Amino acid sequence: MITRDDIRELANFRSPEGCAVTFYYQPSTPLNQSHREEAILVKDLIRNALREAEKHGKNGSTRSDLEKINGMVDPLHGSGGKAKAIFACSKQGFWREFDIPAQLLKPEVAVSQRFHLKALGAVMDGEQRACILLADRSKARVFELLNDEVVEKEDFINELTRRGRSAGYAGYDAGHAERKVMNEASQHFKLLADRIEQYFEHGGCDRLLIGCRDDVWSEIEPHLQSLARQHLVGHFRIDPKVAAPEQVKQMAHEQLAAYSANLKQGLVREAIGEAHRNGRGAIGLRRVLRSLETGEVSTLLLGANFYAPGVKCYHCGHMDLHAAPICAVCGKDNTELEDIGDAIVGHAIRTGVQIVSISDDEEFDRIGRIAALLRFRADQNATVKAAG
Ligand SMILES: [Zn+2]
Repeated sequence: MITRDDIRELANFRSPEGCAVTFYYQPSTPLNQSHREEAILVKDLIRNALREAEKHGKNGSTRSDLEKINGMVDPLHGSGGKAKAIFACSKQGFWREFDIPAQLLKPEVAVSQRFHLKALGAVMDGEQRACILLADRSKARVFELLNDEVVEKEDFINELTRRGRSAGYAGYDAGHAERKVMNEASQHFKLLADRIEQYFEHGGCDRLLIGCRDDVWSEIEPHLQSLARQHLVGHFRIDPKVAAPEQVKQMAHEQLAAYSANLKQGLVREAIGEAHRNGRGAIGLRRVLRSLETGEVSTLLLGANFYAPGVKCYHCGHMDLHAAPICAVCGKDNTELEDIGDAIVGHAIRTGVQIVSISDDEEFDRIGRIAALLRFRADQNATVKAAG
């Protein structure tokens, strides 16, 4: 599993000689005809990359890295449909291999100064990390979800209720007993809320989901504390006593997918609205590139199908969509990029910009499949300074 730290390490790696090898491949089902064709296709990509590298005199470490990868293509079939990503530069003793969630992915082989990371922008954004609390008045269970894995971490019984029952108070004053049970349930929910708050204080989870019966939700909700409220995605109906982990996972995935789709739609509308009123939003490649370079961007919205050729100057880092041979900023040589998306994602990761991957949004497609939310506007700050 690839972590955010791994991705940051990859983004910071640089080979001044241009020997950083990137490889993405997702084999489909094993041992059928199409898989053989796929393997042939990806080996062709490797061969082409090798030829290109040799043309540019990079026949030392690049050849051995590409040959090693070539030898791995066949064994990758049968890895259960998982996608593989390899980042190599043996000239600097660098080799990293990752299984990444199967969701993408065109096979890609690239040899460059930087690793190609556009595909990982979507992986980072697609990570599902949540804490799930199932509760009723006498019991609670806590699960942790990380992508396709759900683990039951804790199991509580409401000790108060159990003690109460064994004391046998319930025969002679039913009303009193009922109030007692309600009070005890309320204390049970308060304890749960404390426990959940601790989870978020320790930074274990990104999001919170609560599963319960409908009538219990109104009793739990008032006890939730500030971190739980901040991270709460929503609640869903389930029987906490008998729910199987698989069922919990499925409900959580549905909730998280709907939440994330809604959130992303909101971010796209916000970026477009802000850009139109000359506020903290940027839309379109030209404007977003400028905002990235001035450090204005807090969140980058990038289409899952974004693709645009461009150039990058590896001397000063300037990116441009015009195919100029010379950097417009420092006058050194530009490098042509087949897809500037990789350079944009690398830059965003290195500078701590959050990346959100957008798919299936027609309005977003119309504005060029790239937009950003800004922390400030450099041009407007300049005006204020000049005026003051
Ligand atoms: Zn430059």
